[in-house]
Amino acid sequence: MLTRILLAVIFGLIGGSFITALSFRSPKGKSIANGRSCCPVCGHVLSWKDLFPVFSWLILKGKCRYCSCKISARYPIIELATVILFIVIAFVISNPVHAILLSLITVFLITLVVADIETGLLPTNIIISLFPFAVLYRWQVGGDVVASLIGGCAGIGFAMLLRYGFQKIKNRECLGLGDVRFLGIVGVLLPLEQWGIFLFVSGCVGVVTGLLWKKLGKGDEFPFAPALILSLFLCLIFPEILLIQK
Ligand SMILES: [Zn+2]
Repeated sequence: MLTRILLAVIFGLIGGSFITALSFRSPKGKSIANGRSCCPVCGHVLSWKDLFPVFSWLILKGKCRYCSCKISARYPIIELATVILFIVIAFVISNPVHAILLSLITVFLITLVVADIETGLLPTNIIISLFPFAVLYRWQVGGDVVASLIGGCAGIGFAMLLRYGFQKIKNRECLGLGDVRFLGIVGVLLPLEQWGIFLFVSGCVGVVTGLLWKKLGKGDEFPFAPALILSLFLCLIFPEILLIQK
């Protein structure tokens, strides 16, 4: 168990560092492959000492090593969140293949949460990259590949209905196209029996995030994807508990 936790921490740090770069670049259409990370203010290329934001942020008290400008707390927060979720996965999921796949999926999920909070958009390239991992995971946990693909289409169809339904009733966009695509991924990952509880938890978390968003003075339109994503994560790690008994 100790080895698993240690691995979760190490890969959580690496994954978190990757997410901070990915969530910063992908909404701007920049590639993750070319160019190294640099300070957003002075543009100095980061050295190996800065690769793990949690440590360098704490040591340098939230300032850039080169220009001493303030570095946003998003970096250490994202990295810490990744480490915590990886540890949760290592604790709960005993099958190592399932745990590794779920950790990879979690990297994409956190990236989507960050992108939605910061830009209000879910980058399509991240959702497309998530798709093969979703199919692979569903197949690995004993699901049928064809059924998962049908589930994906059903998820998109259901989300489109919701989108146009809301548009007709409320006369404004409640569910963005990014959310629609994301519900396709949910359809791939979750069996039909879990959809009820998934929507219920999403709704509850959505109400809480909506209230928090308002309290922070950010307006009435809040990002809904974090609620969907947290609910999906819970359904994936506790499939037995969160399955409505037939
Ligand atoms: Zn700097």
